[in-house]
Amino acid sequence: MQKYDIYSGKPDSNGNQTVIETTMILYKKAAALSAYLAKIRQQGNRIGFVPTMGALHQGHISLVQASKKINDLSVCSIFVNPAQFNDKQDFEKYPSTIEQDIDQLEKAGCDILFMPSVAEMYPQGTIDAEHYPLGYLETVLEGEFRPGHFQGVCLVVHRLLDIVQPHELFLGQKDYQQCMVIKKLIELKKSNCALHICPTLRENDGLAMSSRNVRLSAKDRARAPKIYETLTDIKTNLQTGDLNKLKKRAAQKLTDGGFTVDYIEIANADNLEILESWNGETKLTALAAAFLGDVRLIDNLLLAD
Ligand code: AMP
Repeated sequence: MQKYDIYSGKPDSNGNQTVIETTMILYKKAAALSAYLAKIRQQGNRIGFVPTMGALHQGHISLVQASKKINDLSVCSIFVNPAQFNDKQDFEKYPSTIEQDIDQLEKAGCDILFMPSVAEMYPQGTIDAEHYPLGYLETVLEGEFRPGHFQGVCLVVHRLLDIVQPHELFLGQKDYQQCMVIKKLIELKKSNCALHICPTLRENDGLAMSSRNVRLSAKDRARAPKIYETLTDIKTNLQTGDLNKLKKRAAQKLTDGGFTVDYIEIANADNLEILESWNGETKLTALAAAFLGDVRLIDNLLLAD
């Protein structure tokens, strides 16, 4: 597609204006973004979309890179969605690093950043918001421990999909259950947007990259890799038959490591049915959510596929 040459605005050492090939456009208004993207689409270009809540790390950037590989134009959104926080403090303490985020997205070659206000996203408020029939999916794991969370996720993603109307949507496996919820949302809305689930990026010690990691104290940061270690331990010791002993041992390992455990479970990877025993064939995933101090971490690992 046509890329626009723009001036960086900064003269180089010879006093000349430097021309850079392309830059990222920042939109704050939904209608303006939709109008721009409609033109892009009419010209036959494919649009990839990466929704985020900001405080970006390499995991987010990997999604932008995945989008760039197969799309003509990649859009990233940064919006800390109040509707998906069941814990007010978690919302208030959610990290924000806008300057660095913009810098990282520009370096990654992201074409458009959408950064709406709450009023722009929810002009009618959220009190009479649509209810999404998610069924079983919102009764277990994150759904059980974060009541209302997935309704809030659907609300924001539904609105974002309406605004951006991407050909392809990029999500991280890090939020495994969220991926399943959004897959269901896409089905419910009969959208023809293709969903890409990208691998979890980890720090060198195994800790899944997360915006919340910066909120860990030095002591808790040192403890945090235990989640991945424990999930890996489940994978290594997985056997057919009873799974309860393995789950119990994993929970104990986290508790001994200083975590307050919400859950550590083994589930059918296709539908998140919680399993007590394994027939050796069902595709499995292990999922964990646990607190270190007031920071809640989640992670998951496919066990057998
Ligand atoms: P968030 O900003 O945490 O809402 O995440 C925005 C998107 O980035 C979601 O699709 C996440 O699953 C994805 N994401 C978050 N952490 C990672 C990671 N460590 N690796 C890959 N994707 C991630």
